[in-house]
Formats: sequence, C-alpha cells, structure tokens
Amino acid sequence: MLPIERQNQIVTWLNEEGTLSIAEISKRLNVSEMTVYRDIKPLLEENKINKTSGGVSLVSMVNVSPNACTYCLKEMNNRHPMQIITNYQVVEQFCCPHCGLLRYKDTEKNVSQIICRDFLQNTTISAKLAYFLLDADFNLNCCQPQVLTFDSLKYAEQFQKGFGGTIFRFEQAVEEISKRMSGDFGCGCNK
Ligand SMILES: [Zn+2]
Ligand SMILES: [Zn+2]
Repeated sequence: MLPIERQNQIVTWLNEEGTLSIAEISKRLNVSEMTVYRDIKPLLEENKINKTSGGVSLVSMVNVSPNACTYCLKEMNNRHPMQIITNYQVVEQFCCPHCGLLRYKDTEKNVSQIICRDFLQNTTISAKLAYFLLDADFNLNCCQPQVLTFDSLKYAEQFQKGFGGTIFRFEQAVEEISKRMSGDFGCGCNK
C-alpha cells in the first residue's frame, strides 16, 4: 500500500469508528508504529485529524459552529460562500472562495466536489468551471487576497470592466492564492 492509500484508509476507519490507537492502526495496516506516525503527520498538519489521549481521531466538524468557515473559523459570509464535499461525504463550508481555494489546495485528493456561487446572479456552480476574479476594486470584507467567482467569462469580464482585477481559471486561481499566501499559514482574514 502507498502512504496515500494508508492515509485514506485511516481516515475511513476514523470516520466509521471515531478514535483509533496508533497500535491498532499499525496492527491493521501491518506496518510499524513508526510508519503510522509518518503517515498521519500530514493529516495532523492539515488539521484533518487530532491527537487524542487514546490515539487519533477525526477533527470533528460537529464542534464547529455550522455557521463558521471550516478554514478560518470566521462566521460565514452568506454573500459569497464556497463548499467542498469530500470523498467521505463531509461537507465543508467556507466564508469565501479565498478559504475554499486554500482548503482545496490542502486536501485536493479528498475533494469530490467544490461548489461556489456566481457573484452576480447567485446561481450555484462548480468551482472547477468558474471564472475567478482577483484584485478587483470591490471589498467583500472577508479574506484577503479576495476572490470573486463567476459562472461565465462574460459576467467576469463585465464585472472586471467596472472594478478591475485579473481573471483566472480554477487551477490558476488555486496556484495564485496559495502562492500569495505561502509562508503564511493564517488565511489573512480581517479580524
Ligand atoms: Zn474563511
Ligand atoms: Zn473569507
């Protein structure tokens, strides 16, 4: 098994069973505890799982207010939310596309769907097909650098005419945001 396969397996077990000890994981996967620690290190760093007294557990979404952004924990900005549905059918909500894209970057392999809204029409769209406007002169009062999402190039360009900024496609927007945030593990939210 590849490390990524073991990681997915560990997350699946934790999803089903709550908490598992390192010894139990090592027994089930038939690898050393050292290997288990190596496997779970990135999961711990990405805040997907928690160390507990008995071993490890999944970071519980239940304890987080349903109105809080999964990434920055700030209250949701209903004007411009983004959602990720993971392969484990967990729904993660984000205050704005800024947080959604950064989370996507962290957890890409576990993302089943990523959804956002068209900024002008408020329709629900797949973020992978959306157009992203950065650096527009329009303040959402959410996280910086700010990202606006549009369903079509036409709307993005119309908005760009009025407010400036640069248009990106999905992958470019993910790269651009994480590049600008690199070295800074906070999300740059206005407190
Ligand atoms: Zn956020
Ligand atoms: Zn935000």
